[in-house]
Order: sequence, then structure tokens, then C-alpha cells
Amino acid sequence: MNSENSGNYEFSAGLGSLQPSLTLGLTQKAKELIGRGEDVLSLCAGEPDYDTPEHIKQAAVQALAEGDTKYTPSSGRPDLRQAIAEKLEQENGIACRAGQVIVSPGAKFSVFAAIAVLCRPGDRVLVPSPYWLSYPEMIRAAGAEPVFVPTLAENDFCATVDCLESCLPERARMLILNTPSNPTGGIYQKRELERIAEFALRHDLMVVADEIYEKLIYEEGSGHISLAALGKDIAARTMTVNGFSKAYSMTGWRLGYQCAPLPVAKRIDALQSHTTSNPTSFAQAGALAALRGPQKSVEGMRLAFKERRDVIYDLLAEIPGVKVHKPGGAFYIFPDISSFGLDSMTFSERLLEEEKLAVVPGFPFGSNDHLRLSYAYGLDTIRRAVERLAAFCAKL
Ligand code: PMP
Ligand code: GLU
Repeated sequence: MNSENSGNYEFSAGLGSLQPSLTLGLTQKAKELIGRGEDVLSLCAGEPDYDTPEHIKQAAVQALAEGDTKYTPSSGRPDLRQAIAEKLEQENGIACRAGQVIVSPGAKFSVFAAIAVLCRPGDRVLVPSPYWLSYPEMIRAAGAEPVFVPTLAENDFCATVDCLESCLPERARMLILNTPSNPTGGIYQKRELERIAEFALRHDLMVVADEIYEKLIYEEGSGHISLAALGKDIAARTMTVNGFSKAYSMTGWRLGYQCAPLPVAKRIDALQSHTTSNPTSFAQAGALAALRGPQKSVEGMRLAFKERRDVIYDLLAEIPGVKVHKPGGAFYIFPDISSFGLDSMTFSERLLEEEKLAVVPGFPFGSNDHLRLSYAYGLDTIRRAVERLAAFCAKL
């Protein structure tokens, strides 16, 4: 008998019913095709194309050599938590003590843990749309329900308080705020954040502020603003999530963190102590070097991404039928392809088949009218990829 037919494969409604992440899946698929020597180009990757800076790698190598290979506290090494608390105070203006910092195996787990400890079955979570595709899955895994709040390109794809108010459901428990945003690159401005903070307080909402792209903001003079820096009251309901993946090009290291109000941090620590235990010991040594060491590489990467953003935006804007909004941050651009009459899934499948260009459809991010293109690639790849896209559009 086929072993797959012999067990009782009924799965739980929450964690057992998740669909695999399409961003990770498509990125791997494109890498495999390219690895087999196929003439495929990909703009799928949700990770910087740079290597981790050398001093960070060396710190981890040294930690390994010195035997830093044992369990650490489940919420991370005390010196790393302290360094993160100092970073959040000094750079972000968030009043944060080390005890509020929980280091996790990736910011993805940080978001998951915050939702998991706070959301009860039947709770509703406001999610501005388009959204990072993992949020709704994490919310459903907790037995809660996402409520999508539409946004407009002319508002930089940011939710307004008017729109949040009009979408507010009963049993609203939480708001997810992602600035700069994946997949749109949208950035919330200070005035809107202040209004959102008031809104969250008025409706007794907790907020996950996912700030993982904070270092990748391209307009001079418009730095990152952390929601939790806007006052003690909003800080007491905000979990500020960040990590090392994007700023230091450390996606494979799996290191993220959050600063949560102390009672929430304690619950998340308990969750980790029974699930992940600690983030990898020697990776934490690298993270400490990332925070304490030189920051030149971060700025170098930002400038390179800014140039790529300008190039990809100009090239896309020239394609007849494509509508594109200039993103202010992160490394994604989200062109509207609805004028071609194909939904985003069909469009991207045919684009791969006919022009050998892999992109992520907008559908899993909440819009079937868009594609998500990553510009975490060299300029030559970007130019050749957009040529293929233009050739495909010209055929439609
Ligand atoms: N939040 C957003 C918006 C992201 O795009 C990512 C990218 N994977 C993450 C969180 C998680 O990053 P990581 O788990 O690699 O720290
Ligand atoms: N966050 C990145 C992306 O959206 C990496 C993939 C993932 O974690 O889903 O592509």
C-alpha cells in the first residue's frame, strides 16, 4: 500500500492548513531554472543580492571557533538584546529596555509570534492591502481573521485613517503596519502615523509595526519614522519588528527581533522557549557585530538600490499600458498591468513561459492587477528583464 494512503492525514484548521509561501517558492523555482542553464531571468527575490559584510561573517566564524555552539536564552543573548534596545532608542527614538527585546529566528517568526500570543479565535486584524503575503496566513493560523483595508497608489499605497475607520470590524484586535512596504515600497509619513496612533488608541488596538525595510528609504530628508516613537501610549501597544535580513544582507542567517511591551515580550519568550528555543548561537555573534560595527555597507547598499529603483521605474514607465508608481523604499516595484486584460497569475505564468522572465504575481499580495518586481538585482539583469517584459506587453 502507498504509505501516503495509510495514515490519518487530517490537518488542523490553523497551522495545519497554511499554503506554502509563493515568494519563497517562485524564487527557488527561478533559481533552479537558472541553475540548470536555462535562459531565464528572475525579478522574484525578496533578498539583497549582496553578500553579508565580511566583519559580520568573521564574528560568527570566531564565535564558532571559540565554541559558541550551545543553547542561549530563548529570547537571545543578553548583550545582543541590550545592543538592540540601544539601537531602537538611539536610531528610532523608541524607549526600549533589553527585557522588552525578543530575538527570533527571523523577523517572520517575530511577526508570527506577536500575532500568535495576542490574537484569539474570532478576533479581526486590520491589514492594509496590498500586504506582505505572510500576514493573512499568520493571522488565520491564530484562528483570527484578516480584514483588508484598501489603499491607493496616489496615497503611496498607505492606509488612511478614514479608510481604517470605515473598514473597522467588530472584535478588531490588531493592526499590521508595514513601512516601508513589501510589495509596494510605500512609506507612511509622520502626520499619517500620528493619526494612526490616535486611531489605534481610540479603538484599543494592538499594532505590529513591521519596519524591516527601514534602512532602504530613497528620498533624501524623508527618514524612517517608527510608530512606537510617537508617544508612551502607542508604544505600550506596539510590537516593533525588525531584523538583520535586509539591512545587513543576512537572510539565510535567520535573525529578527521585536521590541514588545513587557507583558507581551514575556508571552513571546514563553512561546519561543517551547518552540524555536534560541536563535542560532553563533549567528547572534554576527548580529552583535552588525549592530556594533561599521555601518558603511548599509549606506552603500541603499545608494545602489536607489539607482536601481530609478532605472527600473524609468524603464517601466516607458512601456505602453503599464502604470507604475515610484516606490519610496524597500526594493520592490508594483506595476499595474490591468490594461492588458490578464489577471496577475496568468500574466506572470505566460511571461515566464513565453519570455523567460519570472516575476511574482500581485494576487497573493492582495491585487490581481499588479506584478511585484524586485530590483535587488544588478542593473544589467534589470535592463534585460524589463526588455522581456516590454516585449511580452507589446504582443498582448
Ligand atoms: N516582513 C516583511 C515585510 C518582509 O518582506 C520580510 C522578508 N522576508 C520579513 C518580514 C521577514 O524577514 P526575515 O524573516 O528574513 O527576517
Ligand atoms: N520577504 C521576502 C519576499 O517577500 C522573502 C520571501 C519571504 O520571506 O516570503 O519575497
